[in-house]
Amino acid sequence: MPADMPPEDFRRAADEITAWIADYLAAPGRFPVLPNVKPGSLTAAIPPEAPLSGEPMDAIWRDFQSLILPASTLWNHPRFFSFFAVSSSGPGILAEYLIAALNMNGMLWRASPAVTELEQVTLSWLRQWLGLPDTFFGMMHDTASISTMHAILAARHRADPETRTRGARPGLVIYTSAHAHSSVEKGALALGIGKDYVRLIAVDNRYRMDAGELARTIAADKAAGLRPFCAVAAIGTTATTAIDPVPEIASVCEREGLWLHVDAAYGGPLAILPECAHYLEGAARADSFVTNPHKWLFTPVDLSAFYTRHPEVLRDALSLVPEYLRTSEPDAVNYMDYGVALGRRFRALKLWFVMRYFGREGIEGRIRAHLKLTADLLSRIEADTRFEVCAPAPMGLICFRLRGPDERTRALLDTVHATGQAFLSHNVLDGRFVIRWSIGNIHTTQADIDATWDLIRSAAPQSD
Ligand SMILES: *Cc1c(COP(=O)(O)O)cnc(C)c1O
Repeated sequence: MPADMPPEDFRRAADEITAWIADYLAAPGRFPVLPNVKPGSLTAAIPPEAPLSGEPMDAIWRDFQSLILPASTLWNHPRFFSFFAVSSSGPGILAEYLIAALNMNGMLWRASPAVTELEQVTLSWLRQWLGLPDTFFGMMHDTASISTMHAILAARHRADPETRTRGARPGLVIYTSAHAHSSVEKGALALGIGKDYVRLIAVDNRYRMDAGELARTIAADKAAGLRPFCAVAAIGTTATTAIDPVPEIASVCEREGLWLHVDAAYGGPLAILPECAHYLEGAARADSFVTNPHKWLFTPVDLSAFYTRHPEVLRDALSLVPEYLRTSEPDAVNYMDYGVALGRRFRALKLWFVMRYFGREGIEGRIRAHLKLTADLLSRIEADTRFEVCAPAPMGLICFRLRGPDERTRALLDTVHATGQAFLSHNVLDGRFVIRWSIGNIHTTQADIDATWDLIRSAAPQSD
């Protein structure tokens, strides 16, 4: 009896699961996008203690279908329009399967050369597609939050290298916009910068960071004896996909000696399209940059691509090499020296499969189709006088509401969600409740948009 699952059992279960996945991907809309469950109902359906004796795979697989799936919100559903609509894809799913089978941990080059080198190669490919300079060193993290935390960490080390020995000292100030993702502030909190030293710069009437206000705030902080060290600009904010004026912000940072980090977690992949390349204007001047292939690049969660032109700063800040991890390949990059984590999943295989399978043309075509679906939908919403569009929609997100009091839009969204047929999200923008409709799922078609828009229109009050 082998210690692991017997190979013939593995083959049988794998065939069954593979067939199920193939059927699922052939019709990813066949289960409801939103589960009809209350908090705790799954927990109550599962034994509170783990089994003493092993169970047959059949039983586990049956419970996956009867318990887990009905409690799942299905991000691969073609009518998943919530948060940012993201999806995995066939090649990404296959890679994820192989990643688990090989179970490599690429802490350092020697721990598995393929992990390190494919990470370098795929991030170089992506960098070229995005038109970023070849001086950018790439590394992968799980999420943009962790990528951004490393950017702030590097910025802090450059501004105050003694942090490494003496610990964090107060007085360093970081700047981002009032519409920045919470990960910026969280990264600052985790690093001991302190909330009092995070400045949320006002946005203009298109929700873009006001670069003049940034310059004035930095000047005021310097006059008060504080030490501005980092600014984070967004290309595609989470609230509205606004694009901060990165060239102007870069000029301020260059003049004042601040590290500039660009957060393009969601919007970055758009720049693969030649007609959208200008969205990344100024990003080449950044000290670091993040985009998430697990958002709009059809790669299964998780994969965040982090780039910096100063990898040596991260290494100076973080490298600690115990004897058992010393190796004799001086030319190889050992990623453990550039980040907090030691262990490293073989995420690069997913990106390699996705980029090769679709090719640049295939990816451009899919993203372009999402932009067209978004533009067409936007004009339909604008044409219906019951609704108002609340922000420019340069990417794949529309923020809109019913005219009148917030309660009407809230009730509309509740009605739509109660049908279980589509999942959208909401936000409060300028004090008003808005629906966020995000389009970017690989499975979404015109028919999904039409059906959802019909659902919303018929659930909306017929007239004022
Ligand atoms: C989604 C998003 C993040 C956070 O991404 P995670 O990978 O979930 O940490 C940060 N910034 C922006 C602009 C985002 O859209």
